[in-house]
Amino acid sequence: MTYKILIAGAGLGGLTAASCLMKAGHQVEVYEQAPKLGEIGAGIQISANAMHVLRDLGLETAIRAAGVHPAAYVFRLFDSGEEIQRFSLSEEHESKHGAPYTQLHRADFHDMLAHKAQEFDPNVVRLDKKVTGYTEHEDGVTLHFADGTSARGDLLIAADGLKSVIRGQMFGETVATYTGDAAWRLTVPIERLSAEGQLERAMSVFVGPGKHAVCYYLRGGDLLNFVGCVETDDISEESWTVKYPWENLKEDFRGWNPNIQAVIDAADRDACYRWSLHYRKPITNWSTKRVTLLGDAAHPTLPYLAQGAAMAIEDGAVLTRALAMRQSIPDALQLYQRNRIDRTARIVEQSTANRTLFHLPSEQAIRDAFAKRNEGEDRNKWLYSYNPLTVPLV
Ligand code: FAD
Repeated sequence: MTYKILIAGAGLGGLTAASCLMKAGHQVEVYEQAPKLGEIGAGIQISANAMHVLRDLGLETAIRAAGVHPAAYVFRLFDSGEEIQRFSLSEEHESKHGAPYTQLHRADFHDMLAHKAQEFDPNVVRLDKKVTGYTEHEDGVTLHFADGTSARGDLLIAADGLKSVIRGQMFGETVATYTGDAAWRLTVPIERLSAEGQLERAMSVFVGPGKHAVCYYLRGGDLLNFVGCVETDDISEESWTVKYPWENLKEDFRGWNPNIQAVIDAADRDACYRWSLHYRKPITNWSTKRVTLLGDAAHPTLPYLAQGAAMAIEDGAVLTRALAMRQSIPDALQLYQRNRIDRTARIVEQSTANRTLFHLPSEQAIRDAFAKRNEGEDRNKWLYSYNPLTVPLV
C-alpha cells in the first residue's frame, strides 16, 4: 500500500524521511517554513547506524568524497592536552559496523539530501510554508499554513525540529529545562591556524571542570570545527544563529591548553555562535492515528553523543519499513514508535549523562571516571551497531 504523505520541515530528518518514503513508492510533499533551503556552517558527525540508510539512498560516494574519516575518538585533559582514552574510528568502525564514521559540513550534507529528494520528485519541497497546525479526519489529515492555505494527505510526519508546532498541538507545550550549558560553535580554515592549532585528524574531546571542547575537521581537512560547551548562568537562545562576543569565548577557555587557545585565537571575531542547551524529558507516545513525530520533534537531545541527526535518519528508515509491514496507517505508526521509543530515550539519557562525565571537577576525578569506563566498547555494543534497515521490528 502506498500513501500521500505530508512532512513538516525540510531539515536533515525531514529530507531523509522524504527520500526513504519516495524510494518505497509513496507520494511525498515536504513543507518548510524557510524561504530557501539550507543549513548553517558547522560540522555534523555521521556514524554507521545512520550511514546504512544514506548508503541505501545512494549517497555513500558523495558523503565519502565530501567528508573526513577521523582516525579515532580521543579524550584529552583540558590543561595539559594529555590523552586519557582513545578508541579507533576509521577502519575499526567500518569493519565492526559495516559503514564508515564520517564528519561533514552540515550545509554540504543538507544539500546532498535535498538533491536526492528532488531526484525522486523535483517539486517535493514547498518553501515559505510555515505550518501552524493540523486537523485529523477519519480518512486523512489536513496541514494548515500561516499563509491561510492547507494541504491534505493520508499521513502527516512532523519533522519540524525541537520546537515542533505539531508536537505542541498533540501534547501541549513541552517543558524545556536549561541544562546549565551553552555550546559555542565556530569553524576555522586551517591555513589560519598556528602550529598549536593543527590537531590530529581525529575526533578530539578535551574534558575539564565545568566544560568540554570538541574539535574535528571538515571538507577534506580544510576546515576545523570547534564546539565548546561551558557551564554558565547566562542563558541565551536555543538557536544556531545567535552570536556572542569572541571575548566571552576566550574568557570561558582561559587556562586551557595551547591547542584550544590556538583555535580560539584563529576564530573569526564576528562569527562565534552560542546555543543554550535545554533538556526535554523523552516522551512515551508520539503518534495519533495519522500523525507522527520524527527527529528532534520526537526526541530532542543534548549533542553529547553526536546522535541527534543520526536518530532522525534512523527514524525515517524504520517508519518506511513499518508502513510496508502493516495494512493500516495507525498500526504502522504504533509499530514505528514501539521500535523507536526505547532506543531514542536511551540515547537522550546517555547524552545527558555524558555532561557529568565530560565536566568532572578535577583532573583526578576525570582520570578515575575514564579509568572505569570504556566509552568505545560501550558505544560499539549498542549505539553504532544498530542497523535501522535490518533491525527486527516487533
Ligand atoms: P531540524 O534540523 O531542526 O529541522 C527542522 C526543520 O523544520 C527546519 O528546516 C525548520 O526550519 C523547519 N520548521 C520548523 N518549524 C516549522 C514550521 N512551523 N513550519 C514549517 N517548517 C518548520 N547530531 C548528529 O547526529 N551528529 C552531530 O555531530 C551533531 N552535532 C550537534 C552539535 C550541536 C552544537 C547541536 C546543538 C546539535 C547537534 N546534533 C548532532 C543534533 C542535530 O543537529 C539535530 O538532532 C538534527 O539537526 C535534527 O534534525 P531534524 O530534521 O529533526 O530537525
